[in-house]
Amino acid sequence: SGINFDKFDCIAVKVTGENPPRAIESFETANLRNYVLNNILKSGYKKPTPIQKHAIPIIMNGRDLMGCAQTGSGKTAAFLLPIINTLLQDLRELVVGPNGCAQPQVVIVAPTRELTIQIFNEARKFSYGSILKIAVAYGGTAVRHQGDNISRGCHILVATPGRLHDFVDRNRVSFDSVRFVVLDEADRMLDMGFMPSVEKMMDHPTMVNITERQTLMFSATFPEDIQHLAGRFLNNYLFVAVGVVGG
Ligand code: ADP
Ligand code: MG
Repeated sequence: SGINFDKFDCIAVKVTGENPPRAIESFETANLRNYVLNNILKSGYKKPTPIQKHAIPIIMNGRDLMGCAQTGSGKTAAFLLPIINTLLQDLRELVVGPNGCAQPQVVIVAPTRELTIQIFNEARKFSYGSILKIAVAYGGTAVRHQGDNISRGCHILVATPGRLHDFVDRNRVSFDSVRFVVLDEADRMLDMGFMPSVEKMMDHPTMVNITERQTLMFSATFPEDIQHLAGRFLNNYLFVAVGVVGG
């Protein structure tokens, strides 16, 4: 895509937490399925960015993650690639509960409509040609069309916090089958007042237990309140910081 990621190579990376797996040096040596690798190469990615080098093996090893890296450093693929790889590796049947209540296996929450659409498009790109179903839900538009899509069942649901709860409160989405929860741009969600909605999701009666799911948080900055939330939402997590991420 014409972006020169070499500028990130000299930025210090800090990893803390118990037994971090080794960072990968290339996509080819990341143990990704050929299928996923082909879709990566098709999208023109030649080598992983620093956050991807660390996040991909951490997530593939089943660990929770707090990832901090500046905007534009490739955080989206850092979580989508290992998630899609895991879903395809260990395929589980799509469950749709009574009255078309979808039970997504992956819930990705992001603060804005634009971000959810971007993540949705990247997820479709990396899972292109697979059986994975992906849905997106954001506010400012009728619930109906998005709802029809979700009710057909989806492995991955990308949503803004408010619209997610519109569906959850109507029993159109539940969290019983969740394998991954991703909070993208956690610092912006905090600034925009979305944390009560995020907490409502994490504490929802249908939400899979913290030790039975993987939870991943991403942020461009790491102020104290985000550190506090990471401590609450994540289980025995690894912390990866690329570059300066002060409070
Ligand atoms: P962030 O979420 O950290 O702000 P994005 O995930 O939106 O960053 O990525 C920024 C841009 O870089 C996107 O256009 C994305 O497609 C591209 N990109 C991500 N990873 C790579 C890579 N390994 N090689 C080339 N381009 C990449
Ligand atoms: Mg991002």
